[in-house]
Amino acid sequence: MDLKAHIRGIPDFPKPGILFYDISTLLRHGPAWREAMARLADKIRPHKPDLLAGIESRGFLVAAPLALELGLGFIMLRKPRKLPGLTIGLNYALEYGTDRIEMQADAVQKGQRVVLLDDLLATGGTMAAGINLLRQSGAEVPCAAALIELTFLGGRNRLDVPFEALVAYD
Ligand code: 5GP
Repeated sequence: MDLKAHIRGIPDFPKPGILFYDISTLLRHGPAWREAMARLADKIRPHKPDLLAGIESRGFLVAAPLALELGLGFIMLRKPRKLPGLTIGLNYALEYGTDRIEMQADAVQKGQRVVLLDDLLATGGTMAAGINLLRQSGAEVPCAAALIELTFLGGRNRLDVPFEALVAYD
């Protein structure tokens, strides 16, 4: 199955000049979504995770079904002040300004292998921040993965772990 046929590019979103890859059309096609999850599970299994992590919010849509597929638990990396209880966080630079992600301080046990997931890798800034935050929490991160990689932005070069993706645009 050609997964790219189920992903559409929407011009000028969220601002003029940006071509946004929309996964809504993949999500709403049952067989294509199921195949995407099965294929991603096959790429992640060899990294032997103990736990999966997803980045808010489309990363949750990827990590949660994959966790079920792999028989693993799933944790959330969220925008600030969304998670209850004790949290740890990390600020990271955007093209303009900064952003912050947080996770629950007790989500990971020291040494657990946590694979980090998002829907798409662009510059890699979000994924790199997620990897660093997971490490701060005591996790080992054997790999990161996404449905889509924008190869022309070179995001994987900012990651110090192997990176897996199902489809690439250049
Ligand atoms: P990065 O930090 O790698 O530059 O940006 C990746 C983050 O921005 C991801 O969390 C992803 O959800 C979002 N993102 C950036 N561009 C796109 C896009 O074209 N399509 C989708 N679905 N997400 C995008």
